[in-house]
Amino acid sequence: MRAVLQFAALVLLLLAGCAPSSKPPAEPTTTLEPAPSGTLQVAFLDVGQGDSALITFPNGKTMLIDGGETEQGRRLVRKLRQLGVRHIDWLVASHPHSDHIGGLIQVLRAFPVGEVWDIAMPFESPVYRDFLRAVRNARSPGGRRPEFRKVRRGLTVEPAPKVRVSVLAPSEPLLTGTRSDPNNNSVVLRIDSPSGSFLFTGDIEREGRQRLYVARANLRADVLKVSHHGAANGTDRAFLRRVSPRVAVISVGAGNRYGHPHRETLALLQGIRVYRTDWHGDILMRLSTDKKLHVATTRSVSAEQAQLPSSARAAHLSVVIGNRKSRVYHAPDCTQLPKPENRVRFRSAQEAERAGYRPHKCIEGE
Ligand SMILES: [Zn+2]
Ligand SMILES: [Zn+2]
Repeated sequence: MRAVLQFAALVLLLLAGCAPSSKPPAEPTTTLEPAPSGTLQVAFLDVGQGDSALITFPNGKTMLIDGGETEQGRRLVRKLRQLGVRHIDWLVASHPHSDHIGGLIQVLRAFPVGEVWDIAMPFESPVYRDFLRAVRNARSPGGRRPEFRKVRRGLTVEPAPKVRVSVLAPSEPLLTGTRSDPNNNSVVLRIDSPSGSFLFTGDIEREGRQRLYVARANLRADVLKVSHHGAANGTDRAFLRRVSPRVAVISVGAGNRYGHPHRETLALLQGIRVYRTDWHGDILMRLSTDKKLHVATTRSVSAEQAQLPSSARAAHLSVVIGNRKSRVYHAPDCTQLPKPENRVRFRSAQEAERAGYRPHKCIEGE
């Protein structure tokens, strides 16, 4: 019997709009259980520093986009089982970096897979080699090999009535000579249903975004999977204006060595509800026919996180500089720091606010 999740408390009135907030949303906590039939569910799975999202369509068909690092594979398979997965209809490798494809190797061993979508760019790495070997050895639900598709812009599928998956990128020929060709050639896909839309961006950077603009891709979406784990090169103001999401998801590992998500990205996301796998764990979003987005997470944000100061940027400063005269606090790289004799150091924005200091405009990201 399919268990029904307790999605009681929080309902985002997506189409009616919701009040801007930069506080981390504290959602009802849940456990991973199968989606009830008739709903479109996207589960952004916590795989540490990496990406993974399982989409369950209203008719029960499934699409898995990315799988985190190889070491996450077993944990990911366990999570997929909890979500009721018995086979995967579409397994999508957004690009061949290990934090996206590593965990898919174990998934290919554990579940029958209908189609594998891959950008098929020349890429040398042991993990990508293992991934391609796992694809060759995998089985489809019909007992044959999964179909291997080289994914390019224009590919669309209708996994369920009135639900469409459209690939917006990469286009042919693939980008070359960028700072990271694998990132910039990531699969970008959108999911449209009468109840709402999702945009998945892999790890695209500036050149990848430019290409989407040139191709006049429809980027408007209710929910954005923020590119490149919230890195500064993954998001800019122009892109967010085009997507204009109500909700953003950052898939990121706690205390990762890259400093993701970047505070500039968080500042750009002000006014959008931001969920993060490092804080919220697995994030389950359901679209029901009433055009509401229901969100539940497997972890609730800690009391400390929930009491963050108004600015998302401030949340990520490990030191702030107060002005004992004006009682205003600044980011350490502010161009208008107080005179040295007036400076007070705080270990966090919270500490400064508890001491009665207000944020300077550098903190608010203006
Ligand atoms: Zn990447
Ligand atoms: Zn990545």
